[in-house]
Amino acid sequence: MIETPKNLTSNILLGMFLGFVVGSLLYYLSFFSESFLNFTKVYVFNLGSAIFINLLKLLIVPLVFFSLVSGISSLTNMQSLGNITLKTISLYLSTTAIAVSLSLLIGSVFKPGAGYSSNIAPPDQLPKGQGIYETILDIFPSNIIEAMAQNQMLAVVFFSILFGFALNKTNHLTNNFSEAFEKLNTVFMQLVIMVISFAPIGVFCLIGKFVITDGLDIFQEAFKYVLLLIIVLLIHAIFTYSVILKLFTNLSLLTFYRKMKDVAIFAFSTSSSAATIPVTLKTVQNDLGVNKNVSSFVIPVGATINMDGTAIMQGMATVFIAQMSGIDLTLFQYIQVVILAVVTSIGTAAVPSAGTITLVIILQQFGLPLEAIGIILAVDRILDMLRTSVNVTGDAAVACIVANSENLIDKNLFDK
Ligand code: ASP
Repeated sequence: MIETPKNLTSNILLGMFLGFVVGSLLYYLSFFSESFLNFTKVYVFNLGSAIFINLLKLLIVPLVFFSLVSGISSLTNMQSLGNITLKTISLYLSTTAIAVSLSLLIGSVFKPGAGYSSNIAPPDQLPKGQGIYETILDIFPSNIIEAMAQNQMLAVVFFSILFGFALNKTNHLTNNFSEAFEKLNTVFMQLVIMVISFAPIGVFCLIGKFVITDGLDIFQEAFKYVLLLIIVLLIHAIFTYSVILKLFTNLSLLTFYRKMKDVAIFAFSTSSSAATIPVTLKTVQNDLGVNKNVSSFVIPVGATINMDGTAIMQGMATVFIAQMSGIDLTLFQYIQVVILAVVTSIGTAAVPSAGTITLVIILQQFGLPLEAIGIILAVDRILDMLRTSVNVTGDAAVACIVANSENLIDKNLFDK
């Protein structure tokens, strides 16, 4: 088994803390010269963050490809893949529906938008979201190199499954060529660990960049909306996932959350479920003991279509904007929001702020004022970080449940 560097979590936390402190000092103290500030911002924080994110992204496609191909090509029971797919998709859709319902419930009880008026200007141009038609079509690439170059996860997953099947069927003719993929997969796992060992520095730069750009005053606008959103995200991350894990498995919740710490921190600092895929995959496979056949499918698909945190934001934002504009949503409209948020979270890209783009689709549906998106964007940075952590925790919880139901989880490794 490939070893992870020692004290990684505490070093990442230290990096985060230092990024926070150094970023705040530079942002709030006024005795640094403009040129020094600019230099540090560009050449330390921005450059460091961009390099780190690039290194993570560099691994996503080959990692998913090799691990999925080697998993599928060694499957002896093809029925199992069908079961895994069905369970994964149903769990992803149900947890997202629970997430947005929770958000709508709390939003309509505590009314974040009642009596709220803002002086924030609307954005010049409204972002455009991707429709469900394009999302479905994107699963079937016409050019796999192009799909890989654009990190289109569903297309890569689809192609890897096809390729894995073909490899599986031809192994007797190719002198067990699938073993080569198994070995390449091990090499890429090692590469992930090498990149992760730079995480303390990467996280330092990412957090520092965030603070130095936006400061720490996250509650400047829409205080109640921000607070309620954070509460619902926490309830979902802690309560909902605990309940479903307990309902479907007998795994220790404490161990699950303890081992998920690094993944959550990565998602928090990168604001991207996609960039976090290498870390999520590594943790789910090597630490939580989920078999590669399950994790290599469930994690990349989850990063793309399962966004509970994003759905929570979209639910709360819809309620907030409706209340602000004095519009009463009917029960039927609430149900429509649930369905729309589930569907749009599938079409939301796993990159920073993507959720606010697909929010436009929901607002349009109900004739809500699109200009209000300006308020949502103004407070979105930190909320994006938090909801991305929830998104990836959901992916890992579902991976454990699916693996457990198929007897494809190594419980000794999980408990270690
Ligand atoms: N940043 C989120 C993610 O990557 C998507 C979003 O909600 O904006 O999971």
